[in-house]
Amino acid sequence: MLKVDLHVHTIASGHAYSTIQESAMHASSVGVEAIAITDHGSSMEGSPHTGYFGNMARIPREMHGVNLLMGCETNVVDLSGNIDLEKSIASELDVVLVGLHKLTPYPSSSSLADNTRALIAAMTSNRVHIVSHPYRLDFPVDIAALAKVASDQGVLLELNLSLLKLFGHNEKLLNQVKLMIEAAEKLGMKIVISSDAHIATEIGDDSVLSALGIQLPSGLVLGERDGHDEVKEFLASRG
Ligand SMILES: [Zn+2]
Ligand SMILES: [Zn+2]
Repeated sequence: MLKVDLHVHTIASGHAYSTIQESAMHASSVGVEAIAITDHGSSMEGSPHTGYFGNMARIPREMHGVNLLMGCETNVVDLSGNIDLEKSIASELDVVLVGLHKLTPYPSSSSLADNTRALIAAMTSNRVHIVSHPYRLDFPVDIAALAKVASDQGVLLELNLSLLKLFGHNEKLLNQVKLMIEAAEKLGMKIVISSDAHIATEIGDDSVLSALGIQLPSGLVLGERDGHDEVKEFLASRG
């Protein structure tokens, strides 16, 4: 079980199924110390409008004994790496993720070079903490090149448990995950493991790692040392 889960969707995302309260309650029941509420950025079909992210200060920072972090999984919207969250709102959030997704304005015909360039531009010109699932089958990236820039920028790459659950049988995907782990290890950078939960019961559940026999070198994963404290340290260091 993860101690901290920095990627959780709620009903606000439009294709997820739990509320913030239900998410906190489930996290509490399985011993997850902190979760980040990271609904999809506004350009995705069915996702919340900008005002949702601008109003998150209204949400209590603790529910059912679980620390709540406020965030957004922003979308890259074009090949130049623009994202769908205003800088003034992003600067108020605890954690900003960026990723490539379908059902957004990002062109689905993009190449590996396009995707790599767009993600690098997105993370270098915005306040971003984490690149979510940088190894999607529908949006291939040069993971070594991405890892190098992420490492220089202090951005984390994410080991996304949802994609492993859905596509863990796919050799190509598993190979990309392996390359990401190798690249991070070589660069001495940390990675973050997140559920990308779309229903509360998925929060913190990392059982797919052992099910797929994925071994992670010790010291690689953020929060492995002392959970929430190390995560807070990282988020503070990013400003
Ligand atoms: Zn989603
Ligand atoms: Zn997500």
